[in-house]
Amino acid sequence: MYDDMIIGGGIIGLAVARELTRRRPQSRLLLVEKEERLSAHQTGHNSGVIHAGVYYAPDSLKATFCKAGNRATREFCDGHGIPYVDCGKLVVAITEAERDRLGQLWQRIKANGLERRWLDSRELAEYEPSIRGTTAIFVPASGIVDYRAVAQALADDVIAAGGEIRCATQVTAIHEYPDEIVVETSNRAFHTRRLTVCAGLMADRVARLQGLNPDFMICPFRGEYYRLKTERNGCIRRMIYPVPDPALPFLGVHLTPMVNGSITVGPNAVLAFAREGYRKTDVSLADSAELLGFPGIRKMLAANMRFGLHEFGNSIFKRRYLHQVQLYCPSLTLDDLQPHPAGVRAQAVGRDGALISDFLFLTTRRSLHVCNAPSPAATSALPIAAYISNRLDDLS
Ligand SMILES: Cc1cc2nc3c(=O)[nH]c(=O)nc-3n(C[C@H](O)[C@H](O)[C@H](O)COP(=O)(O)OP(=O)(O)OC[C@H]3O[C@@H](n4cnc5c(N)ncnc54)[C@H](O)[C@@H]3O)c2cc1C
Repeated sequence: MYDDMIIGGGIIGLAVARELTRRRPQSRLLLVEKEERLSAHQTGHNSGVIHAGVYYAPDSLKATFCKAGNRATREFCDGHGIPYVDCGKLVVAITEAERDRLGQLWQRIKANGLERRWLDSRELAEYEPSIRGTTAIFVPASGIVDYRAVAQALADDVIAAGGEIRCATQVTAIHEYPDEIVVETSNRAFHTRRLTVCAGLMADRVARLQGLNPDFMICPFRGEYYRLKTERNGCIRRMIYPVPDPALPFLGVHLTPMVNGSITVGPNAVLAFAREGYRKTDVSLADSAELLGFPGIRKMLAANMRFGLHEFGNSIFKRRYLHQVQLYCPSLTLDDLQPHPAGVRAQAVGRDGALISDFLFLTTRRSLHVCNAPSPAATSALPIAAYISNRLDDLS
């Protein structure tokens, strides 16, 4: 019998496992992951940004966890010899309408207590000569890191503390009883006193495996990237973001200098027709039928039809994708955009069609399910793990 079991070998599951082994060094802990390796999904396919907490409503879990996570991630990297870069980010307005929205963003950044600087077009050109805009906000607290390396270090800590991690072990059924939970997997069944589910793109399906009837469905949004050709490395020193549309949970196609020196462009946000659909050609009829069978997804698609078609167009036509970036980085050409692997975001959508923006958890007597952990969940993994551990203690 295990004291704790965790489903999901992404950054959230690994951070929870590490937190629990630190809090209860004598307890028996097992983490299972369905893929052959850790970080195979969102944790291994993201922008690598250590977010500062620019966009989130000040009273949200996202704002609280992101600010704490920004600090905690750096401290963790310092303690484990993981490289990260404190490059800061620029949010750039290119039109007068965007300048007004940037003003609103300034107020939010202020409300979130972050250091910031307002730049006019001349100052922006001094900061980043390749970038054009009417105004910009510079936020120094944003950084970059490789979250795969962070996740691996979390896993190493878990093993060093006596925890077990089993890859290639897919959970197929969960039975909760008054005094234990039985987790059936592709290998064998495990017994545990408490269960934490951090299944990312499969969050709703794993909840249903436990007989729960969650009031949301995970909608997979593919985020497609390009990488600038090597000769362009160094063309920007900071992250460059457009002004986001406040109605959407996505930040817009941005330029990110990665820790290895390359620069990624993206991601966009395209509805994926398969839960783990990393390529444009990945289509699962079963997944698509499941998606469209949920009223909330149909409402969400109807309400965001224009945005959806716009993103599809930019996905199919590279020239249109490029155009979005040329608005603030005019010197880029089609030839600069090289292929780079996509990621797929797990975005929970409510029955009412709302894209659920904050983190969402569901508990039973002996289990806690992480139902919605979108960006900035990689940044926030360590404080989320502490929060989950507290809630688990309240359960038991
Ligand atoms: C394109 C993109 C860009 C992003 N950029 C950033 C960023 O710059 N900064 C940031 O902070 N965040 C970013 N995010 C968000 C961040 O990557 C995720 O929020 C975070 O990685 C979520 O971690 P997770 O552990 O919840 O999920 P995952 O990493 O997806 O892990 C879930 C794991 O559960 C496993 N699993 C599922 N079902 C089962 C089962 N039945 N049995 C066993 N295992 C199972 C899966 O195989 C998977 O490995 C981005 C995400 C994407 C997709």
